Amino acid sequence: MLLLCETDRPHLKTLNIHRQKTDSILRKHPWVFSGAIASDTSQLDDGECVTLLDKAGQFLASGHFQHGTIAVRILRFTEGPIDAAFFTACISNAVQLRKDLGLMTSENTICRLVHGEGDQLPGLIIDFYNGVAVVQCHSIGMYRSVNHIAEALKYTLGNDLIAIYSKSSDTLPERIEAVDGYVFGSCETPHIAKEHGVQINIDWIKGQKTGFFIDQRENRHLLGKYSNGKKVLNTFCYSGGFSLSALQNGASLVHSLDSSRKAIDLTNDNIELNGFNDRHDSIVADAMEYMKDLKEEYDIIVLDPPAFAKHREKRHKAIQGYKRLNAHAIRQIRPGGIIFTFSCSQVVDKSLFNNTIIAAAIEAGRKVRILEQLHQPADHPISAFHPEGEYLKGLVIRVD
Ligand code: SAH
Repeated sequence: MLLLCETDRPHLKTLNIHRQKTDSILRKHPWVFSGAIASDTSQLDDGECVTLLDKAGQFLASGHFQHGTIAVRILRFTEGPIDAAFFTACISNAVQLRKDLGLMTSENTICRLVHGEGDQLPGLIIDFYNGVAVVQCHSIGMYRSVNHIAEALKYTLGNDLIAIYSKSSDTLPERIEAVDGYVFGSCETPHIAKEHGVQINIDWIKGQKTGFFIDQRENRHLLGKYSNGKKVLNTFCYSGGFSLSALQNGASLVHSLDSSRKAIDLTNDNIELNGFNDRHDSIVADAMEYMKDLKEEYDIIVLDPPAFAKHREKRHKAIQGYKRLNAHAIRQIRPGGIIFTFSCSQVVDKSLFNNTIIAAAIEAGRKVRILEQLHQPADHPISAFHPEGEYLKGLVIRVD
């Protein structure tokens, strides 16, 4: 069990905001950059709860302080404590949304329960895998609130909750020395959960991120609808989510490709778990190299690379990467073939991504039509006041 300290101190420290910097807070944007703060913050601890005031001393908001570019992540725009009751109210609200969306049923036991700013909890991600909640903190304030978060989950989920695993060592600054582990119950891994009826082994301890890329659920489901009788290449497959959906829906053959041996092992285990072995092969290779000269013809190709650009300065290079990868696929796919192509780089917006795919089609010299425009699912909501929360975009294109 982890021992973590609490954040609900009785007297919140107050910080004054420069006069010309209050607008974004009044528009309910959840981030306050360090340059907006007029008060001295040198004595503040990372993760402290602070109240923000305007120059006239009027309340603006309160949230978690952290030394760095984003100095405060706002949790409340109304006065009141950031305590156990606050977390319980926010998390109950978030869980209710997922229930309303039909994402917590016997055929679907995987969903994102809390999506940071999209659920008014900046810095907090909670993924749910058939009774196990995996908590990932992106701010020190959230990490220090893990006890409250755990209590809120227990209260809200009741008997539906088996265990809570806290996994923030990869997502917090090193100065924190975050410890990963169970904060409630425990559960053997891999743990089997379901996505639209497909069984998936989830390992939050050894796997990437919280164990699974939940954000592609509806896009994987859509791929299923195109897959009957088709030969599919799923590149950047991780644990094989797109492959499983294609096979469940009658694909004649699926090839799953990833550069990571570990990812391919996960894919193979999932294929076996669902009894799809006879229509599946896997390949350990660099996707960019492999796509240059495909050894076979495919009816469907999935391109779901990791974020090529994490920062604005890398955007140009990322665009070149997306263009090259997509041009290879468009050039070589069978006539009438379908490509599911994605970008999860937040700094590449929808229109830039679409233009990049159009440029790839021009370079490949084939006729391309856009059939569907894809995005992140409803359990990854985007706050209207925080458009930066939009990150996943994709296209389904047909190459004639
Ligand atoms: N489509 C997956 C998620 C993809 S995550 C799903 O539905 O779950 C991105 C994956 O790309 C990771 O598994 C990573 O190992 C793999 N990867 C990263 N660089 C790669 C490369 N150059 N070639 C092939 N795979 C790569």
